[in-house]
Amino acid sequence: MSTKAYAAHSATTPLAPYTLTRREPLPTDVEIDILYCGVCHSDLHSARSEWGPSTYPLVPGHEILGLVTRVGDKVTKFKVGDTAAVGCLVDSCRTCSSCAADLEQFCLGGPVFSYGGPDKHSGGQTQGGYSEKIVCDEAFTLKVPTNLDPAAAAPLLCAGITTYSPLRKWGAGPGKKVGIVGLGGLGHMGVKFAHAMGARVVLFTTSQGKVEDGLKLGADEVVISKDPAAMAKHAGSFDLILDTVSADHDFNAYLALLKLDASMVLVGAPPAPQSVSAFSLILPRRNLSGSLIGGIAETQEMLDYCGSKNITCDIEIIPIQAINEAYERMLKSDVKYRFVIDMASLKG
Ligand code: NAP
Ligand code: ZN
Ligand code: ZN
Repeated sequence: MSTKAYAAHSATTPLAPYTLTRREPLPTDVEIDILYCGVCHSDLHSARSEWGPSTYPLVPGHEILGLVTRVGDKVTKFKVGDTAAVGCLVDSCRTCSSCAADLEQFCLGGPVFSYGGPDKHSGGQTQGGYSEKIVCDEAFTLKVPTNLDPAAAAPLLCAGITTYSPLRKWGAGPGKKVGIVGLGGLGHMGVKFAHAMGARVVLFTTSQGKVEDGLKLGADEVVISKDPAAMAKHAGSFDLILDTVSADHDFNAYLALLKLDASMVLVGAPPAPQSVSAFSLILPRRNLSGSLIGGIAETQEMLDYCGSKNITCDIEIIPIQAINEAYERMLKSDVKYRFVIDMASLKG
């Protein structure tokens, strides 16, 4: 089925209109009319081949929320008219040890990402949510609590799960001091979740203008990371630091703030390697780790948690025609705090 979209056609040209073909729904497929799609910094990294060469045309977008328009005859979880969502994953092998452990993002056969992955049904590559419609197996389609505003819920599908999962795994909660580095799409959800989980939250930002917002979003304290004296006050005091920064920065400055045996977890994915001094880890014994989105079951758990606590993202709605300008603003750290595309602008 012919579907209007916006695609990157090369690493150096602006995104532009494109028409892609979606498969007709198979027996276990859900067809979704996309209402909103969040704009993740990973979309920009991928559109511009910053993590390695992308295949073009590439339709980004993995924070996808819409209404079910058709279901295959074996679908049990969804019916026409339901609100449904698709995040970063659309398939996996479903049999390996990672899949069996609900960690499809680490599928040993290779997780199939929502864009730029191998499309085993249609050939070629998967294409993401900057489009009118998507067709996805119901096993990788999420239910969205009906009390949440749909536009503000869309970014939960990546920014939400990517911060929720490591905060849970590394035990953010009462009595724990948790640092969130960077107040962008991921960072603002990291602050909200760590606060909701009961931790003491310290936000590290490079942007003086975000201090007030950081406090409103749930931080107990905001530190300007460019100020060495302000950083030094927190030396050796954190149980966990979650780093969401998208560009080059000094990991050692944050490792110095960890307690014995505490962890700094990277979710931000700067394209270039960053350097780490061995002494940042050995004295006192510290951990540097990483985390990738979350599995489907945990993504549903996160959505249900947001439903029960009324947590959504702080968003700025844009028409698809403003996507290139949005990317430029994202590069200037000028996002409050997630762009969400109103897909009606594509259909009109
Ligand atoms: P974003 O909205 O652009 O936020 C990134 C934030 O990092 C900025 O707002 C800024 O915060 C800070 N920052 C930017 N450049 C910086 C620099 N040179 N030095 C220090 N701080 C800087 O991006 P996002 O969508 O949240 O994504 C963040 C990163 O996570 C990207 O690399 C993305 O690809 C990655 N990601 C990873 C996963 C995963 O599963 N691991 C999932 C999604 C995204 P301040 O203004 O507060 O300093
Ligand atoms: Zn993302
Ligand atoms: Zn697998």
